[in-house]
Amino acid sequence: MALRTAEQYYDSLRQMSPAAYALGEKLTDVTVHPLTKGQVAAVAQTYNLCHDPEGRQLLVAHSDLVGEEVSRFTKLYESTDDLLAKVKMLKFLSQRTGTCYMRCTGLDALNAVGVTTYEVDAKHGTQHHRRFLEYLKYVQKNDLVVWSGVTDVKGDRSLRPAAQPDPDMYLRIVDRNKDGIIVRGAKAHQSGSLCANEGLIMPSREMREDDRDYAVCFALPADTEGVIHIYGRGTLEARVLEGIDLGNVDFGKFCPMVVFDDVFVPWDRVFLCGEYEFAGPMVRAFGSYHRHSHGGCKCGVGDVIIGAAATIAEYNGVPSASHINAKLVEMIKTVETMYGCCLAASIEARSSDSGIYLVDSVLANTSKLYEGQEYHEVLRLLVDIAGGFVADLPSEKDLQNPEIGHFIEKYLKGAADVSVEDRMRMFRLIEKLAFETRDIVSNIHGGGSPEAHRMTLLRDTDLEPKKKLAKRLAGIKEKE
Ligand SMILES: Cc1cc2nc3c(=O)[nH]c(=O)nc-3n(C[C@H](O)[C@H](O)[C@H](O)COP(=O)(O)OP(=O)(O)OC[C@H]3O[C@@H](n4cnc5c(N)ncnc54)[C@H](O)[C@@H]3O)c2cc1C
Repeated sequence: MALRTAEQYYDSLRQMSPAAYALGEKLTDVTVHPLTKGQVAAVAQTYNLCHDPEGRQLLVAHSDLVGEEVSRFTKLYESTDDLLAKVKMLKFLSQRTGTCYMRCTGLDALNAVGVTTYEVDAKHGTQHHRRFLEYLKYVQKNDLVVWSGVTDVKGDRSLRPAAQPDPDMYLRIVDRNKDGIIVRGAKAHQSGSLCANEGLIMPSREMREDDRDYAVCFALPADTEGVIHIYGRGTLEARVLEGIDLGNVDFGKFCPMVVFDDVFVPWDRVFLCGEYEFAGPMVRAFGSYHRHSHGGCKCGVGDVIIGAAATIAEYNGVPSASHINAKLVEMIKTVETMYGCCLAASIEARSSDSGIYLVDSVLANTSKLYEGQEYHEVLRLLVDIAGGFVADLPSEKDLQNPEIGHFIEKYLKGAADVSVEDRMRMFRLIEKLAFETRDIVSNIHGGGSPEAHRMTLLRDTDLEPKKKLAKRLAGIKEKE
């Protein structure tokens, strides 16, 4: 069953029993809870659209590993075409959900682990890559959702893992035995961990020799004993809890903190175990892949944002005002620049020793850095075009109230041929696009903080040839 249906995905979540909490209470069924069902529905789209003629072209690929068709969300990047296809797939899905469906995190993690385990084995003679490929076959054959557990809680940011006063601020191995390892720690901001069947957990930074116990990578089912998911609050939750005034009714996003309270992981699921010098390369590969993913998903949401801006301008009666057109041009420019950079990062990709392709990290990080700075301008322009009702629109309950509904109908009228209900719906969607914290903070910190993008840009840019170019034109002779 290499391609599951959405119903099979829902069933798989219902059969799991993760330890999960939201707003101080136990969360029993993520598929129906108002705070979590929206992201489960967004992930379900990655299954639905595999069986749709248009979606299939982007979401389904052949895997040589298992010799059958698999979801592209489980396939390794074995060519520049695979990387191009990923960006296009993510854009397509974001256009349909307007938010996050989180499977790209697992896809990027699988590839980063694939690249790095090959190198670890080459140096240390370990069996990590072989184990990883066995694991990947299992993921592909069962079409599983994998979440990526990268970001540690980190305690005092100025201190390395082994130097923290509390040694659990970075996830670490606390014990090893003949059957496996025991790990302890916590990972923060875990996009849709409760929508996942499996977690792929990896280090979040470079490590030194004394950080050896923190250099650990492994996979485990999301409901493994000792794994506790604690829902992280976002904005606009009253809307989904009350079931009214929803901007994008069907789809949402959430990011729990996940605690690992002395969790056992069997050896066949361990892919890095103390080889500290590979922690940095593993997280760097993940970072560049994931910044590259943003160039697809954020641009798909960008298309929704641009469409919402153009529509509300029509609904307000000013579709062809010159300043509105100028602002739409700015929005399109930013979104297409990010997208173009990530397409280019795919074309310029090169094969690693494992055969898995690595994106051009300079282009991928440029796109992400640009997103962190310029995407907010896109949102600012959206709000500028929409007007103040993004902030304080009366409720749909007011529209339905016989005592005041007629006032809403009368005074919220915009363009003559647009119903008040449609205008209100568009304002609600814009409110969510512009102010849902999980989406807008991920523009900055998703895939690592902007400083991480800058550091990667500088590290991976060879300045010497550029200096030579400048010196040659200035007539400066190179020293022997
Ligand atoms: C919506 C959302 C979804 C996410 N999804 C995932 C996910 O699915 N999986 C996952 O693993 N992670 C995820 N993340 C986590 C994301 O990668 C982190 O938020 C990001 O790496 C920043 O880490 P932090 O939040 O701990 O902030 P911090 O690292 O605390 O950064 C705050 C500031 O401190 C600076 N800083 C930090 N350390 C240092 C230092 N040593 N020296 C100088 N300056 C420093 C940073 O540059 C930044 O300016 C997600 C984040 C968001 C917001």
